[in-house]
Amino acid sequence: MSALIDLACPECDQVYDADQIQTICEGCDSPLWARYDLERLASELDRERISRRPKGVWRWHELLPVRDPAYRITLGEGDTSLISAPRIAEELGLKSLFVKDEGPNPTGTFKARGMAVALSRAVELGLREFVIPTAGNAGGALAIYASRAGLETHVFMPVDAPTVNQIEVRMSGADLRLVDGLIDLAGRQATTEAQANGWFNMTTFKEPYRVEGKKTMGFELAEAFGWDLPEVIIYPTGGGTGLVGMWKSFDELETLGWIDGRRPRLISVQAKGCAPIVKALETEADRVAPWENPTTIAHGIRTPGAYADRLILKAVRESGGLGVTVTDEQIRVAQTDLAQQEGIMACLEGAATLAGLRRIVANGWINSDDRVVLFNTGTGLKDLS
Ligand SMILES: *Cc1c(COP(=O)(O)O)cnc(C)c1O
Ligand SMILES: [Zn+2]
Repeated sequence: MSALIDLACPECDQVYDADQIQTICEGCDSPLWARYDLERLASELDRERISRRPKGVWRWHELLPVRDPAYRITLGEGDTSLISAPRIAEELGLKSLFVKDEGPNPTGTFKARGMAVALSRAVELGLREFVIPTAGNAGGALAIYASRAGLETHVFMPVDAPTVNQIEVRMSGADLRLVDGLIDLAGRQATTEAQANGWFNMTTFKEPYRVEGKKTMGFELAEAFGWDLPEVIIYPTGGGTGLVGMWKSFDELETLGWIDGRRPRLISVQAKGCAPIVKALETEADRVAPWENPTTIAHGIRTPGAYADRLILKAVRESGGLGVTVTDEQIRVAQTDLAQQEGIMACLEGAATLAGLRRIVANGWINSDDRVVLFNTGTGLKDLS
């Protein structure tokens, strides 16, 4: 059973009823945080019990928002492999390098985790019709989970989004709207249509639960490392859902007493042609300014702004991490190297993390005995269309 208590605004601490439909904090436009009764769970639940449960994100159900198991929608998301990358580690002079490989998720990316949880909770709260603006993969994931649950979905996608994403949305029977612009225009159109038609907007962080699904990556990482987190996590950052979700998961695990206070340094990787978060980190800005004319071959991180900018900047800074940019050329080389040297078919976004690692190793920022985890957020097969 879920130990969800309420939702709170991380900016002003305003509390919201989690059993009503909620979006963002009205006062500060901030995403809302799900809070759980961790004190009670600390005495009732032990981590070994969770480790023995059947695989998938739902084995963490006490720490997820869905109350009635009947509402869980699942296609086998989560519990992806942590794969060692010994040859590239040696090349870089590192003792241990791992790839958390999200490619085997339904629809081939980690977007499945967030959608499985957010859609399940939305249906539990009585919602039936959904809209999402997407660079591609979030739309594909929402479309397939919605069809699994027999729900209507409307997907707004840039007209130049990868063909594979357009096909997967159509194949799932969702209503695909191609937008003559970028993800920000798709977002504005989706918002207008949502208001006009009473559809629920599943944009990340504009509803509170996609981040809850993605935080399971942090739980899995802690478990895989024997509850002793690695020193460095490198993450290809678009909306920042995974980064913020993992940071939240570590707080929850520490409150439960399952890990100590040591935290990985979070490295946010963005493309040189679209690096609003890296720029804000480097200039010590409080907010992320929208990036003009974003360009990169890695569509999943071609995100000109981030709605949860304050949360992303806070997580990276608290962790002692930093931002790093990589060129499209460096991403391509890294993608080939992962396939040829380690047998890992990474997506371009995932490959960007290796390109980023190479840059920070060259700057002397990584210790040779740091345990480093690269997030491969999807399968390279999605790049072949
Ligand atoms: C959406 C996406 C990202 C960015 O994820 P965030 O958690 O929103 O930053 C990275 N890689 C791929 C493949 C994606 O689809
Ligand atoms: Zn607030």
